[in-house]
This record gives sequence, C-alpha cells and structure tokens, in this order.
Amino acid sequence: MASSDDSFDIIVAGAGSVGLSFAASLAKSDLKVALVDQQALESLANPPFDGREIALTHASISILRELGVWDAISAGYKSPVHGARVLNGSSRFALCFDPPRGSAEPLGFLVPNCRIRDALFKIIRSHHRVQLLCGHSVVDATNSRKGAVVKLSDGRRLTARLFVAADSRLSRTRDLLGIAADINRLGSSMVICRVRHERAHHQLAIEWFDHHQTIAVLPLMEGVSSLLLTLRANEANRLLDLDDDLFLIELTDRCRGRLGKMTLASKRHIYPLVTTWAHNFWAPSAALIGDAAIGMHPVTAHGFNIGLGGQKQLAHGILTAIRNGHDIADPDMLRRYESRLRLRAAPLYHATNILVGIYSNEHRAARFARHVGLRLGQHLPFVRHGIANMLGR
Ligand SMILES: Cc1cc2nc3c(=O)[nH]c(=O)nc-3n(C[C@H](O)[C@H](O)[C@H](O)COP(=O)(O)OP(=O)(O)OC[C@H]3O[C@@H](n4cnc5c(N)ncnc54)[C@H](O)[C@@H]3O)c2cc1C
Repeated sequence: MASSDDSFDIIVAGAGSVGLSFAASLAKSDLKVALVDQQALESLANPPFDGREIALTHASISILRELGVWDAISAGYKSPVHGARVLNGSSRFALCFDPPRGSAEPLGFLVPNCRIRDALFKIIRSHHRVQLLCGHSVVDATNSRKGAVVKLSDGRRLTARLFVAADSRLSRTRDLLGIAADINRLGSSMVICRVRHERAHHQLAIEWFDHHQTIAVLPLMEGVSSLLLTLRANEANRLLDLDDDLFLIELTDRCRGRLGKMTLASKRHIYPLVTTWAHNFWAPSAALIGDAAIGMHPVTAHGFNIGLGGQKQLAHGILTAIRNGHDIADPDMLRRYESRLRLRAAPLYHATNILVGIYSNEHRAARFARHVGLRLGQHLPFVRHGIANMLGR
C-alpha cells in the first residue's frame, strides 16, 4: 500500500456523484485514496440545488443503502414514482408503465442530485483513508503499466497505482489518457425548474413528446413537480432570459394547462445536452467511471444509475484483487469491468439515442413511427415489460 504524502493507491479525478460513490465504495478498505476536485471544499460540502431530481431505480437504492447513503437522506427528499405515462403530441393515448399488479412498491424514487452528493460527501469525510484534494483540477496525467503520475493545477505531482477519471462527459483526463470518445452535442438544451401546480400529480411521471419540444413532469411533494423542457438551444436560452412572469406564462402555454395554474417553486437551470460514449473504459493503470465513460441523454433518467452500478463493479474488482493477492490495476480485471459495463449499458444507451432521434424529428415518417411505437408498446406486453426491465436495471 502507498506510503509517502504524494503517493496513493488510487487517485480519483472528480468528486461528482459517481466519483464520490466510488471513493465511498473503497472507504472501508486499507487503500490510500485521493479524491481530487476542482471545486472548493465549501461547495462540495454544501452542494447547491442544481435542478436535477435523480430518478433512482431499486438497484441503485440498494447500492446507496449499502454505502449508508440512502438512510442518511431524510424521507422528505425522497419522492416515490408510482407510475409513468408517455404521451405523443396532442394524441390522448398514453403508454403506461405501472408497478406489477398487486405490488405496492413504487417504480422508483426521485431524489435531488444535491442531496445525494451531500450524503456521499459526509460519508467520505468521516473516512480517513480518503484524502480530499479540493480546489485543484487535474491538468496532466501520464500512465503506463507501472502506474500513473497526475499533475494538479497547484503544481503538485501525485503518483498512484490506479488513476480513475470521474470528471464528467467532457472529461479532460480521458483526453489526457488518450482515450477517444464519441461526443454528440445535440444542439438542444433542457430548462428545468420546480413548479407548484393546481392539479394533483398522483405521483405519476409524464414524458410528453410534443411537436418541437419535450416536456417531462416529475412528481415531487404534493402539488409540486419538477418540469423539464427540452428545446433547441437558442429557444431554451431565450426562455431562460425571460423574467419570471413571462417565463411562467410561456410555460403554462407550452403545458397546455395540463397541470392547471402554476407558480414557480425554484430557480431555473439549463443543461446543454451532450451524449458521450468512450471507446475504452480503461487504459494501463487507469479507468473511466460515470459520465466520463458513458454520458447518457437524460430523457431515460439513467446516467447516474448506470454510473453507480459501474463504480460498484470496478470497486468490487479492486477489492477482490486485493483479497486474492493480485494487482489493483490488473489488466484482466479492468478488461472485465469494461466488458460488463458495456454489456449492461449499451442497449439502454443506443435505445435512448434512437428514441431521442425519433421523438425530436418532425418529419411525417418519424411522427408516424412514434405513434405506432407507443401503441405497439402498450399492446405488446413483452415490449412494455422489456422496456421496464431495461430501465429498472
Ligand atoms: C438534466 C439532467 C437530469 C438527469 N436526471 C437523471 C436521472 O433522473 N437519473 C439518473 O440516473 N441520471 C440522471 N442524470 C445524469 C446524472 O446527473 C449524471 O450521470 C451524474 O451526475 C454523473 O456523475 P459524475 O460523477 O460522473 O459526473 P459529475 O456529476 O458531472 O461530476 C464531475 C466532477 O468532476 C469535477 N471535475 C471536472 N473536471 C475536473 C478536473 N480536470 N479535475 C478535477 N475535477 C474535475 C467537477 O467539478 C465535478 O465535481 C441527469 C443529468 C442531467 C443533465
């Protein structure tokens, strides 16, 4: 195990939700781990609300439970989702996803991203084997079979047996490691805000593929939902620049009164949409996790779910290697990590991109395809169950 001040067993670049989860997964081992983030300690310790309400599957909840995160988040922040409806344009038809008959369990839970980060951060801080290096970005990284050397923005040079990049979809460290990625800038953005509304949401999530816009409504506490509006980037920017009153008028208009009278319940946030798929998830003495490996389109709400499962797999590989007296950067172990993650994530990643392609295309053929797609989904239970299983994984 590593000993000197600047030498670590593992260096993780990025203390986002996946980087933090990975460090938490290793926190009880004897490994000396450094977690580097460009953000100041203050903002990592008190993550501000960023508009994201993360839809967690049951598989993710059980990983968060194992890490001690789920129970550390107070119940008021966990909003159950009892069903989901997918709508197309002005059609009254809805593709329905409901829990299995007789099951009282919700499909999943919505939790604000900042609450997940907050709970993870508190866990990391209570473990002394994880050293937090905040306010510094990784500016250089070299890797070979023998290990990795990482340079920080303050000039410090760190060495590690394994370097893990968790610095998001436009990962600089992925580039430094020479790992190529398909990066798709979609030219659209998501405007998000919480709204208070007149009509009850009955804890049902709605994904409404309307003409030239997609609206998702995520049910939070009673009478409050998170509204996610996907538009061409310039339209989204225009909306963001409106004052609150004009914004609300336009929002109500775009929702065509579905939620009744609305008032704003939070600030607005905007996310330019970019999807990423790294060509490799590992290199000698290095690995990619979270959005640095796979940056999903948020429409199927799965980026964190996949990243959380992926980091668990990598941590498990490392801990098993230690138990068996093997190297923690064993290429065979890293190769297995990559192939399992690829197998699990590829169907969802590609299906999501196809869905986005069909539902953001206003050509008549695409409109017909989505109409047929929804009806097929409803009338062929195996299609609906297949989608539900894929989303629930
Ligand atoms: C609008 C929206 C809604 C979403 N909804 C869902 C959902 O419902 N369900 C779901 O599962 N997923 C959802 N996601 C996806 C989810 O938010 C991401 O998959 C997840 O946050 C990725 O975490 P990460 O740790 O990989 O990256 P990030 O959270 O982006 O963290 C990256 C970290 O790296 C740091 N960093 C960057 N560069 C450097 C550097 N050079 N050196 C040091 N540090 C660096 C950053 O400061 C940051 O802290 C959504 C995403 C969006 C945009």
